[in-house]
Order: sequence, then structure tokens, then C-alpha cells
Amino acid sequence: MRPLVEDQPAQEVERLERALAETRQQILEIQRRVSEAMGAAEGNIFEAHLLVLEDRTLMEEVIRAIHDQKVNAEHAFHTVAERYATTLAAIEDEYLRERATDMRDVTNRVLNNLMGIEPEVDLAHLREPCVIISHDLSPSNTAQLDRHNVLGFATDVGASTSHTSIMARSLRIPAVVGLHNASNELETGDYALLDGFNGVLIINPSDQSLFEYGQLLRKQVSLQERLRDVQLETATTLDGHRVILSANIETAADVAEVHKNGADGVGLFRTEYLYMNRGKPPTEEQQFQAYSEAASALKPLPLVIRTLDLGGDKYMSHMPGPQEMNPFLGWRAIRLCLQEREMFRDQLRAILRASAEGNVRMMYPMISGLEELKQANALVEEYKAELRAEQIPFDENLEIGAMIETPSAVIVADSLAKRMKFFSIGTNDLIQYSLAVDRMNEKIAHLYEPTHPAIVRLIKATIDSAHRYKIPVSVCGEMAGDPVLAPLLLGLGVDELSVSSTLIPSIKFIIRRLKLTEALELANFALNCESAAEILERCQLLARGIAPSLFDTQEDYGSPAS
Ligand code: PEP
Ligand code: MG
Repeated sequence: MRPLVEDQPAQEVERLERALAETRQQILEIQRRVSEAMGAAEGNIFEAHLLVLEDRTLMEEVIRAIHDQKVNAEHAFHTVAERYATTLAAIEDEYLRERATDMRDVTNRVLNNLMGIEPEVDLAHLREPCVIISHDLSPSNTAQLDRHNVLGFATDVGASTSHTSIMARSLRIPAVVGLHNASNELETGDYALLDGFNGVLIINPSDQSLFEYGQLLRKQVSLQERLRDVQLETATTLDGHRVILSANIETAADVAEVHKNGADGVGLFRTEYLYMNRGKPPTEEQQFQAYSEAASALKPLPLVIRTLDLGGDKYMSHMPGPQEMNPFLGWRAIRLCLQEREMFRDQLRAILRASAEGNVRMMYPMISGLEELKQANALVEEYKAELRAEQIPFDENLEIGAMIETPSAVIVADSLAKRMKFFSIGTNDLIQYSLAVDRMNEKIAHLYEPTHPAIVRLIKATIDSAHRYKIPVSVCGEMAGDPVLAPLLLGLGVDELSVSSTLIPSIKFIIRRLKLTEALELANFALNCESAAEILERCQLLARGIAPSLFDTQEDYGSPAS
């Protein structure tokens, strides 16, 4: 805070008036763009923001504070507006409580204008098609990207199994992550060529590069045509082994893509995106709507709903969570849910109610031992009893599975398998936890090795335990969506692969060119091999041998980049 001298209050009031006018112009402009792009109803959301600027009582209080307390406009405006926001946030009425968010949003804009700070680029509403280059993008930022105008994005940090990359894949946004320093090397207005297949960003590309990429694009188009041919076929190997090939989704709206790409169902519905980019967690009713919408759109195909996996790199705006030294080892997934009982109750009741559709299954993320599983199951039984008493229908035989994502879960897999109906191996986490390699960290991305002998053996041990108790095993991590690695998983005995919808066609394509005997041979080699590089090389040899066209658009001898 800067104290004022004699005639400065008048100047401060003038600055405030200018900042308010500027803010008003900015909001009107956003409102116009949103209305054009999404319709008048969405544009009207900004009416509430304009009303804040027109609130004379608030402004008079700010002006009084400038004069009486001899403080600058920033301090006065922030203090008064924050007091209003706090009062609104404490009110019972939901509508009024939400006005607190509007108040804070507008306050930030006014303060930015007072301090001459450029407003952040609004990634949800861009003016023209562009490639976003950023130091980082959170999964929730990525979910909000303007789908019309974002041609692709590149970030300095991150790796191909971070949730930002996974989100980009499912939104079909080309992305390259982990470029270390790209954001410092480009200026707004530079031209950029982004190759998400090979993980390449070319700044101001030469004519030669543009020509070469023109050729690659032609190959890509012809590959897409060949992939369309297998859309309606089943994922069956040449020697008649039927593989269940399911899709991973993030919202109920993704179900359309699941059908379009000819999947056998949904093997992983990541529910946390329902919780992001909103003022407060979704209610039981809102979740029930979303889950039953997805289930009914999928029928008769199955829908596996994963309970909330917040924490790690995924946070809710209204509940930022504690600052943790190691968020991926911290307050995450089932641990968070077992402590946030009210929130978990809403979700479990919503899933149970949606299970009345008849095709729903449920699984818990990040189970690290039997205790969490027992606690979660006990809660499910409690909520089932509630629903029975309320005479609300649900599937009495709802199948519940466990995700196998920690080494400890693999070691006690027998105990888990006895009590569950299925396993789903989350290789993204299983790899990071087993190899102690952060899946988000580009500096150690080279150590993140899905073909590490330890990983191969952990997957095999999980499958053995599951099959001993006659329950099926799915893999829903990114490893399943890599055509180079999928045959290895099938050879190890995995019953189902669940991959981003966009990857279904290429995985189906390779399965239809594979013999199970080749996959078994590959797995046998891998289980007896001591080198990650040698296992990877054998995987590549097989995949490239049976489906060379899948790899035509790749520069080097590797599996597709992010
Ligand atoms: C995994 O860990 O492999 C998984 C599928 O879960 P998520 O990527 O959402 O952590
Ligand atoms: Mg996981």
C-alpha cells in the first residue's frame, strides 16, 4: 500500500474511473466474442460482471476509502471488493454465493488495469487460429482450450503420460510436451510447425520442411483411410483371439467418439474432469445426470466409472489442496476420497444410481492395499442401504474393480483379487511408482520405461493373481494405446486394452495383423530379458513387421510421441 499526499486522492479517483471504463470495454468485448462463438445465453454470463462495475454503493465506498484513509486506488478497491466478496461467499443462497466469484473475477481485471498488467490470454476464447507455446499447461487449462482456434500446443515441461498430454490426445489437439526451453525461443507472431506424432516443434520452418511435412501429411491421410476400414471390425488376432478393446473418456460427451471409433465399451471414465473448472464440486444429482447420460448412450456396451482421482496434477479450483512436497505420493485419489467423506458419498451414490442403467461398473484408483479397499467397499454398502431405504433403484450386482497402480497393490494382488470383480492396470502410475520416475518430469522422461523388465514382471504377476481368482485384467494406461507395446500386453495375458478413443483404430489395426502366438513369444522373451532397450527393440520389430504403414509418418525408429 502506498500512502497518499495532499492532492493525490483526486488523481487516484481519476485512475480508478479510467480503470473501470477500461474493464467495462474488455468485458463487453469478451461478451461479444462469446456470444458470437457460443450463443447469447453464454454471453449473458458476463452481465453479472458488468453489474459489479455499475454498483454505485461499492464504488462510493471505494472513493470514500481513498479520501478518508489516504490510500491508493488499488488498495481501496481491493479491500472494499474483497469485503463484499467474503460476505457474498458466506450467504446460504447458491445464486448469491456464486456472485462472489464474479466479484473476484472483476476485481482482478480492475486491479490489472490499475497496475497496467496485461490480462492473461483467455485460452478459452482466442481471436484467431494459433499454436499455443507455454511453459506449462494444467490439465484443467487444457480441458478449456478453444477447440476452434487452438491448432496445437507445445510446453517446456511435462511428459507424454501427464494428464495434460492425455487430455490433448482425447481432444485430438496436436501437442508436444517436455521441450525444456521452447517458450523462451518463440515470440508471439512467429510461425511454428508442430508435429505431435514425432514430438517436434519447428520454429519458422523452411520451404524444405514445409514440403517434407506436406508429404507426411499425405501419408497420414492415407493411413487414416485404411484405419477407417477396420472401424466396424472386431479386435481379433489373425489366429482368432478376441481382444476387448475399450475407450478411455473424460466426459459423457466423449461417448459419441467411442461409438464412432468402434470400441467395445468404456474401460475408464476419468470422473475428475467433472470437478474441474467450476466453483464447487458437482452435486450428487449433477453427477447422476452425467453418469447415466454416458451409460445410456453406451448401452448395451459397458461403462467403467472410476471414482475420483484428484490430487497429483489434477486440482479443483475451489479446493486447491495443501501445498505438498510430493503431490503424486500425497493426498490423492482414494486417499483423498476416504477423508472427504461428504464429497465421496455424493459420487458413490450418483454412480450407484446410474448403475440402474444396467451396464455400469465401478473401480477405485490408486489402491495401495487391502485396507483402503475394505473401507471403500464398506461405504458402498452403507450407501446401497440408504438407497434401498429411499427406494431409489440401483444395480444390486454392480461389479467393483481395483486399479493396480502401485507396486504394493501388485504384491498383495491375491488378496485384492479375492474380493474384486476385475483389475485395471494403470500403467501410467504403476511405472512412475515402481521406477520412482515422476511421470510429469521431462528431465527424467528417458528413465520412464514401460519395457523395463520390472514393469513387465509386475504386469505378469498382476495377471497371474487375477487369473488365479478368475477375474479379468484390463490395462488402461497409455502403454495400452501404443501399437508397439500392445502386443506385449496381450502376450502377457491381458484380457482388455482401454485406450484414448483416438487411438482405437490403430490398436485395432495392429491386433488384426497380429497372431496371439507371436505375442506369446514376445512376452516370453520379455519375461526372460534383462534389458528394457532389448525388450523395446523386439516390440518394435514385431509391430513394424506386421503393420509397417502405422509407422510411415514417424521419423525415427520409436513408438509414437505425445
Ligand atoms: C494410469 O495411471 O495408468 C491411469 C490410467 O490413471 P491416470 O492416468 O488417470 O492416473
Ligand atoms: Mg493413474
